[in-house]
Amino acid sequence: MPLVNAKEMLTKAKAGHYAVGQFNINNLEWTKAILLTAQELNSPVILGVSEGAGKYMCGYKTVVGMVNGMLEELKITVPVALHLDHGSYEGAKACIAAGFSSIMFDGSHYPIEENVEKTKELVATCNELGLSIEAEVGSIGGEEDGVIGAGECADPAECKMIADLGVTMLAAGIGNIHGKYPENWAGLSFDTLDAIQQLTGEMPLVLHGGTGIPADMIKKAISLGVSKINVNTECQLAFAAATREYIEAGKDLQGKGFDPRKLLAPGFQAIKDTVKEKMELFGSVDKA
Ligand SMILES: [Zn+2]
Repeated sequence: MPLVNAKEMLTKAKAGHYAVGQFNINNLEWTKAILLTAQELNSPVILGVSEGAGKYMCGYKTVVGMVNGMLEELKITVPVALHLDHGSYEGAKACIAAGFSSIMFDGSHYPIEENVEKTKELVATCNELGLSIEAEVGSIGGEEDGVIGAGECADPAECKMIADLGVTMLAAGIGNIHGKYPENWAGLSFDTLDAIQQLTGEMPLVLHGGTGIPADMIKKAISLGVSKINVNTECQLAFAAATREYIEAGKDLQGKGFDPRKLLAPGFQAIKDTVKEKMELFGSVDKA
């Protein structure tokens, strides 16, 4: 099945009170692990690509070629969207041209008027081409590709303003942050989330920084309208831990243990296990 945009899968998720996971990819192993797990669990999935990861993988065209090739060769039949994560205005245009099926335009660092202006233009382009588009209001804390946000709560009125521009899904800061959560983290602001959903109605809401948010908070956020949850750091930690274990056990020094197909296998399996755990938690299993 070719790439699809994220609109239908998220509309269904919002109506069915579950969430679709966005898992960020970094290379072939990552992409294959996520696609195979989605297929095994019969779950829709969104592959996220940050601008940094796009560069690392030799550009957006390489990413599109790799993902499209895998969809065909691995006979993937569940809905898959290829989505630019935290895109700049220029990055969004480049991904649209390269063949992504979905983009995020992160204009949260612009004054609201400029965010509105640029979002409007990209919404028009995406509508014309059949892509889905995510916008962000209120910066999301932590560090993402060198951009450090403070973890603020979005203004519900500003969320309504951006939602009304015709975006497909809206990311709003509700105290969530990227990366590992600090010990003294105050938790998600459900009052903010509730106020945003009251004003934005059917709009699927997006929760960034899904790594380390306790399961009960994830479930409550889904009950309050979150239909897409981004997971990035957790797969990285799982991959690194499994790879470390393999090397510390000296397995790379035994026989042909240095073969990258063997060396990367435990990390690959760790990503699969993490994705499975998240899909089960988010409720997207058997929702393809
Ligand atoms: Zn994010």
